[in-house]
Amino acid sequence: MLVAIDGPVGAGKSTVARAVAARLGFTYLDTGAMYRCVALAAIQDEAADRKRTLDELRIDFEGDRVLLGSSDSTDAIRTPEVSQRASVVATDPAVREHLVERQRGLTQRGDWVAEGRDIGTVVRPDAELKIYLTASDEERAGRRAAQTGRSVEEELADLRERDERDRTREASPLRRADDAVEVDTTGVPFAEVVERIARLAEETRAKAVDA
Ligand code: C5P
Repeated sequence: MLVAIDGPVGAGKSTVARAVAARLGFTYLDTGAMYRCVALAAIQDEAADRKRTLDELRIDFEGDRVLLGSSDSTDAIRTPEVSQRASVVATDPAVREHLVERQRGLTQRGDWVAEGRDIGTVVRPDAELKIYLTASDEERAGRRAAQTGRSVEEELADLRERDERDRTREASPLRRADDAVEVDTTGVPFAEVVERIARLAEETRAKAVDA
């Protein structure tokens, strides 16, 4: 079974998806981390004056760690520079095609909670449960500022720029799938959001078993 969680920057997708996966005993897939790895590789390649092809990039997950080649890049992919660059490389159809294929392959078997921007619309429109997670701009910026230590204003400007790029790009723009359940997390305690999505997943699974 697949629970797809899409939504804009800072809606809480990663923390919510990770907790829902733990609660259900599903595997968590952070597709944003894959775009971040491609961005980090591009930055590294520029510095080293070389060019790796997409096929040469090995992106792996080991528990909570993200590996680019043999290098643990879990922290390196979270810098503001990589965040911005990730939303730029994510507009490239060749990058998307490559990563989407990998994401489809990974989630084909077993039980997954996958989060990103296009899981329910492009990667796996057949997902059994689709969630579109949102929150007000101010709340999203406040959450990110608490994580990064930057100011709320800086985060607000950053997330609006990335959202705009995600929503207006030609290749798989961010949008809510018609059959997604919209969950607005503004002012809602984290545990409540996790509980609601986990219950929806359990109900969806029960219905599938009955059918
Ligand atoms: O979710 P996260 O902020 O880590 O994603 C980094 C960037 O990767 C996003 O700003 C977005 O542009 C891109 N992305 C995407 N499709 C996904 C996941 C992430 O375009 N499924």
